[in-house]
Amino acid sequence: MIPTRLDTLVVGGGFYGARLALLQRASGGRVLLVERESALLGRASLRNQARVHNGYHYPRSILTSLRSRLNYSRFLDEYTECVDRSFPHFYAVARGMSKITAGQFTEFCRRIGAPLTPAPAAVTKLFDSSRIDSVFEVQECAFDAAALRARMTRDLEVAGVEVMLDTEAERITGSGVHGATVQLRQRGESLDVEAELVLNCTYSRLNHLLVRSGAAAIPAKHELTELALVEPPPELGGAAVTVMDGPFFSLMPYPSRELFTLSHVRYTPQCSWQDGPDSPIADGDRLLRHPAPESRFVHMVRDAQRYLPAMRATKYVESLWEVKTLMPRSEQDDSRPILLRRSAEHPACLSVMGAKIDSVYDVEEALGVILGDAKDVARGERSFVAPLLRMTPAPLLRMTPPAPLLRMTTPPPTTTPAS
Ligand SMILES: Cc1cc2nc3c(=O)[nH]c(=O)nc-3n(C[C@H](O)[C@H](O)[C@H](O)COP(=O)(O)OP(=O)(O)OC[C@H]3O[C@@H](n4cnc5c(N)ncnc54)[C@H](O)[C@@H]3O)c2cc1C
Repeated sequence: MIPTRLDTLVVGGGFYGARLALLQRASGGRVLLVERESALLGRASLRNQARVHNGYHYPRSILTSLRSRLNYSRFLDEYTECVDRSFPHFYAVARGMSKITAGQFTEFCRRIGAPLTPAPAAVTKLFDSSRIDSVFEVQECAFDAAALRARMTRDLEVAGVEVMLDTEAERITGSGVHGATVQLRQRGESLDVEAELVLNCTYSRLNHLLVRSGAAAIPAKHELTELALVEPPPELGGAAVTVMDGPFFSLMPYPSRELFTLSHVRYTPQCSWQDGPDSPIADGDRLLRHPAPESRFVHMVRDAQRYLPAMRATKYVESLWEVKTLMPRSEQDDSRPILLRRSAEHPACLSVMGAKIDSVYDVEEALGVILGDAKDVARGERSFVAPLLRMTPAPLLRMTPPAPLLRMTTPPPTTTPAS
């Protein structure tokens, strides 16, 4: 029996949607999670670099690094069985084109309290010393996206969250004091549900739901990304390698396939585009379908072997393609802000996004603040101007300032917003 009156409708069954559905269910009430694909956690939550960030990656944003350090421990404690800690991880600081020197990187790690030790000589000598200044061993592991999917599916079932797969939230058709009406579509059939709260956790498609509902788009940048799934060179002995800090490569375990991903700051993004208030919303998913984009693995590995000659023995298996979405602010200082924004047109709808898997903890805290405030107001314990339109306060939440439109290298097909 499909519920038509809900406390919370969560749109999007990625890691964020699943976590927030569990959170809402824990505070009681009927929660429905809808996912347009035929499995949960099958999009960005599966097709990513699998790095559980422990702060090292963001020397240009100390706040992001510190939050990463906190969330790292939480994630490892909570999802122990979904984490692969079996491999050594080396960060190599490049000479020349790096935005940070080895000395600055060491100082930065000291400041954020991230463990850092010089790599063993046998590892350092694998790198080309004319291009790499120093190599360090760090403590940073990978998550197994398939194990995470299994865990979230089980948790949702145990908690009694109702889940509808192959179900797309098409648009919000009405909004009132007590919530919103949302039109769902499952296998050609349409169904309306009413929910007091709608959480839009659709990541790269946040604006599709908003614009189709007559709401303003949130400024966001999208990239069509390629991660090459590879067998790493045997000489590396199963180690992960990240070269800092600029147009370099990373080699990370991808535990769910027992392979590694090779990514490159220059070649992983194949094209980019931006959603803005005045532009039509591009359908990035069409780029993931036919014809398959052309792999840039050859370019990635050619550049990687300049820094780590052993990389020439890397064997290509296939590519993971995904649309990556960033808040415009990330472009300026490499930070990874979270988004939690209430729609002015549909106040029952909150759009949620985090640039890293474990930023979900920041989103949950910020959501707690917003919903706690709204409950206080409803009980008459607090009053303030336009509480429902408020954004959560900094520092947990960054508003996304309007940014200039970025140039698109290859224009994706566009969809005209439905009226
Ligand atoms: C190339 C790449 C590399 C990355 N590397 C890392 C990394 O190493 N470490 C890290 O922490 N993070 C990484 N990330 C970021 C991380 O993957 C995301 O922050 C996280 O997966 C977002 O989860 P989500 O649930 O919001 O999105 P998703 O997992 O994409 O879930 C959104 C879901 O919404 C569904 N949906 C969309 N529209 C609708 C609709 N109208 N109705 C119903 N369902 C809908 C989609 O099908 C999808 O399943 C990477 C991302 C990319 C793309």
